[in-house]
Amino acid sequence: MNTGICVIGGGAAGIAAAISAARFGASVTVAEGNSRVGKKLLQTGNGRCNLSHVSPAAEDYFGDRDFIKDVLGELGTTGAFTFFKSLGVLLHSDGEGRVYPYSNSANTVLDALRRELDRLGVNVVTDCRITEISGADGAFVLAGSETIKAKKVVLASGGCAAPSTGSDGGGFVLLERLGVKHTPLRPALTGIKCGGTARFKGVRAKARVTLLRGASRVASADGEVQFTDRGLSGICVFDVSRFAEKGDVVNVDLLPDYTPELAAGLLEELDCGRNLPPAELLGGLFNRRLAEAAAANAKGAGFAALAESAKSLCFKAEGVMPFANAQVTAGGVPASEIGSDLQVGRVPGLYLAGELLDVDGKCGGYNLHWAWCSGIRAGREAAASI
Ligand SMILES: Cc1cc2nc3c(=O)[nH]c(=O)nc-3n(C[C@H](O)[C@H](O)[C@H](O)COP(=O)(O)OP(=O)(O)OC[C@H]3O[C@@H](n4cnc5c(N)ncnc54)[C@H](O)[C@@H]3O)c2cc1C
Repeated sequence: MNTGICVIGGGAAGIAAAISAARFGASVTVAEGNSRVGKKLLQTGNGRCNLSHVSPAAEDYFGDRDFIKDVLGELGTTGAFTFFKSLGVLLHSDGEGRVYPYSNSANTVLDALRRELDRLGVNVVTDCRITEISGADGAFVLAGSETIKAKKVVLASGGCAAPSTGSDGGGFVLLERLGVKHTPLRPALTGIKCGGTARFKGVRAKARVTLLRGASRVASADGEVQFTDRGLSGICVFDVSRFAEKGDVVNVDLLPDYTPELAAGLLEELDCGRNLPPAELLGGLFNRRLAEAAAANAKGAGFAALAESAKSLCFKAEGVMPFANAQVTAGGVPASEIGSDLQVGRVPGLYLAGELLDVDGKCGGYNLHWAWCSGIRAGREAAASI
């Protein structure tokens, strides 16, 4: 099979790259290992597809910030709204700036993307896992269930997160064979494995999660913590997981809106002079099992000690949950390996997009936003170079 551009991987970045290249006038083939494109997309945002954020900035990402800023510029100030409008998809944002399709359904997004691929005549080859990239600029040969000859290649095979969706890190192996390096890979936006959480399994609580390493405060985030039999989960835990290491202490502050002094005053006020048992008093503020643990941990009697304990429920980190449970990959191909056109320096004609790159964002739509921006740019640049 001959094509102008072959996009390897039909995830968010690959689909965006294919649309962008085809809109530029190139003949495009997408090779996707799964039996259909966009498998992971359907799982995002709990099926609601938090596909962007109203104000994504380089500071919301980890990686080379100048490079990230440059690529984010691809969707300009209107962000994802204009791109999705061009696909007939209306977006809306919630109170925290997270952007979703108006339908709140990932299916709407994937259907629109697939319709556009169809309309543009993009050839989508499914069940086609590419196992080798050979040849050179203008005459690449891609080996898979079909052999595809392409003038240019966009590799958008994702990272290692959620390998059951097809992104099992195979793209890095293809690149290593071509001499393209990547930084160490680790799961990010994932749960933190901790001892001692099983007794709170199923409990959710508003809290501030702080990672402590010795006397240093490594990272902190506010939100809803979910206790599981293996550790801690929830968006705020995901946001600090990137930094977590075995041996860290995870401090869960169950009264994040109150200083220790204000918290002690609050407890005194709620007690109303009744001298309630500590667990009962805390039980008016959060889950009974957490209240009992905080009451038992209090160092001494009195409201100040109880407040202090409620603000410092501590767990020992045993590491982070594996790629199977992670939303993204930290690490990837660094900006130093590619130009601002997303072309690999040592392999002219090969472009990269999406999570494969050494860029990962916070929770809140930033990672899909990156996939759209980098995909659109890689596809257009590849098409423009033919
Ligand atoms: C459960 C979950 C929820 C998430 N929720 C959100 C969210 O709400 N908002 C957000 O911004 N981000 C979210 N993310 C992260 C976001 O989905 C990813 O960052 C994004 O999808 C990455 O896009 P990508 O195209 O680079 O890679 P992927 O979406 O992983 O796509 C890569 C594709 O390439 C294919 N492929 C891999 N190797 C080959 C090969 N050799 N040959 C052919 N095909 C190949 C794979 O099958 C896959 O379809 C979530 C992730 C998960 C796992």
